[in-house]
Amino acid sequence: MQTRLLPHYRESAWGGQAERILRACVHCGFCTATCPTYQLLGDERDGPRGRIYLIKQMLEGEPAGVTTRRHLDRCLTCRACETTCPSGVEYARLLDIGREQIERLAPRRPTDRAMRAALRRVLPWPRRLRALARLGQVLRPLLPARTRARLPRIGEDRPWPHARHARCVIIATGCAQRALRPETNAALARLLDRLGVGALAAPAQGCCGAVSHHLSASEEARDFARRNIAAWWPSIEDGAEAILIAASGCGVMVKDYGQLLAHDPAWSERAGRVAELARDPVEYLADFDLSAWRIDAARAGRIAFHVPCTLQHGQRLSGRVEALLESLGLELTPVADAHLCCGSAGTYSILQAELAEALRARKLAALEAGRPERLVSANIGCQLHLEAGAGRRVWHWLELLDELAE
Ligand code: SF4
Ligand code: SF4
Repeated sequence: MQTRLLPHYRESAWGGQAERILRACVHCGFCTATCPTYQLLGDERDGPRGRIYLIKQMLEGEPAGVTTRRHLDRCLTCRACETTCPSGVEYARLLDIGREQIERLAPRRPTDRAMRAALRRVLPWPRRLRALARLGQVLRPLLPARTRARLPRIGEDRPWPHARHARCVIIATGCAQRALRPETNAALARLLDRLGVGALAAPAQGCCGAVSHHLSASEEARDFARRNIAAWWPSIEDGAEAILIAASGCGVMVKDYGQLLAHDPAWSERAGRVAELARDPVEYLADFDLSAWRIDAARAGRIAFHVPCTLQHGQRLSGRVEALLESLGLELTPVADAHLCCGSAGTYSILQAELAEALRARKLAALEAGRPERLVSANIGCQLHLEAGAGRRVWHWLELLDELAE
């Protein structure tokens, strides 16, 4: 596609990248068919090709306002379009650029700004989030049914093993997962212990920055990244061989730290090293003989696995968790349209609640079709969002394996 970006955009730090991405798109429209928001809304501007065109128009100086912002806001950043695209268009990076510009060109109403600011002040901070979730549980009887359904179950703090091992990894504890499902990281630490690997949790680490990033607060996202790098660095220097991230949404973000801090000379080298060490647990476990876990697969019953977009499209690890579970003897039910997003998508389920609920209803119908005994996933956001609709627990696969290990 030809482009004529305005000179001040073209010469900006990201101008060359935006131009390259736009020019890679040949407007074939293959991506549109796999876009969940296009499937729901049927409007070209709610599909990837239309959004790419809206961003192109904006960067070429054509009028861009509330309508452009609405169509960009409705994007889930699920990246199904990237998986489908035969031309390798880096849609998500272009969307980041487009969203930052539209925030400036079409400022939000004060109420919207306040809502987004509140999300940034609560979600990335585990203590605040946990306190709010507890308050919600106390006020539960007084809340409307829709809000009650969305109140998350607060998980239990479980002990991490203390044994020392020659091999060790860092576990990125995250924010929402640490606040609401701390048992997931504890399960990972116990599973690693059985394999002779120690797990370190740097106390000063925090949110990966994804919440801020999705809300177009990019400098804040970079600050979260710097904080984590500083927290992990001593363990990296001491020989930690990987940084494991059980929440796939955070995994995508940490794997992108090199790119995020590429223009920061004080941090770029360490950010690149951290990105190299970042692994989803399923990648790290691929090199181990897992028989040491002695999994009692019969206790699990049949499982429907929801593969998060951040795992399949963001990290390109489609099918890996399913294969690992099956290799341990677990029975998985078929799930139709597994490539489609469940509607969680970071803060999307809060800011675009209607679309998120429609996507969740489709996803739950697909997951429940095989009458599974358990629903299982790999990302805290998907777990909470699906649980609110399913009315039953959605396990993280690591928690499930820890439960089944003898
Ligand atoms: S993003 Fe890719 S699949 Fe979509 S229209 Fe452009 S080239 Fe085609
Ligand atoms: S990221 Fe997902 S919702 Fe956004 S355009 Fe691509 S496929 Fe559609």
